[in-house]
Amino acid sequence: MKKIENIALLNDYVSSYREKGKLVALVPTMGALHAGHVKLVEEAKNYADIVITYIFVNPTQFAEGEDLDTYPRTLEADIEKLEAVDCDALWLPSVQDIYPNGVEANIQAGEIAKPLEGANRPHFFNGVVSVLARMFVLSAPDVVMMGEKDFQQLQVVKKMVADKKFPLEIIGVETARDENGLALSSRNAYLSEAEYKIAIQLNKILKQLADNELSEVEATQALIEAGFDKVDYCTHREAENLCPNPKNPDRVLAAAWLGQTRLIDNMAMKRKT
Ligand code: AMP
Repeated sequence: MKKIENIALLNDYVSSYREKGKLVALVPTMGALHAGHVKLVEEAKNYADIVITYIFVNPTQFAEGEDLDTYPRTLEADIEKLEAVDCDALWLPSVQDIYPNGVEANIQAGEIAKPLEGANRPHFFNGVVSVLARMFVLSAPDVVMMGEKDFQQLQVVKKMVADKKFPLEIIGVETARDENGLALSSRNAYLSEAEYKIAIQLNKILKQLADNELSEVEATQALIEAGFDKVDYCTHREAENLCPNPKNPDRVLAAAWLGQTRLIDNMAMKRKT
């Protein structure tokens, strides 16, 4: 696997394939890779000839007091995992590459970013779209692989790509889960054994909400009874715009806290006919 640490090399690398008419996929990550990230790389091969993963812990999507400094950094293990799935290149941009004019979000994510995650982490999506727009300019990918695990993020980025007319396609990849249904996340590493036992209730309760076995209020209550300390939201929405659609929603989404760890999850809901 080619390791790329500066923009000039990235340019040469991408151009050399582009000249041969090859398609390039980008897999954006913040590292601490797990099977969910690996699935994005594997899936990317169905869409492109060359797969570039990048690892960049993006400072502008963390607010003061969030886990930027303690976010898990496991580069050697990440490289092993990427080599095991034959990822073609790993791009490790520097903060200067991404933010040449100072570390701040320079793109606003718009309306779709306001509910749910945006209401609880107002800085977050501006940081995400700013870093991705810069990455897209620098690497000019044909396709970009993103996880449905971060469902609102996926929709926000699709909207930004459409608004800015980036000539690329965002592909959403289904959430990878562990044997208990817990959505894989780099932040699961923070969970104690006792917290893990509570965490695995999240997908089960969300499934009951998706199947209309519980109302939003009942599902929220069930999360608290299961042991979650706080529920930021547990709701059904219209998948495309994340707006409430009380009559006929098609996505359920939740975010809940276990101690210092915030977990999110979502799944499809069958529309009524
Ligand atoms: P992150 O490193 O957490 O920023 O995630 C990088 C990419 O991997 C994002 O597009 C995430 O949605 C995706 N991702 C994270 N966890 C999972 C998962 N369990 N299944 C599928 N994709 C995931």
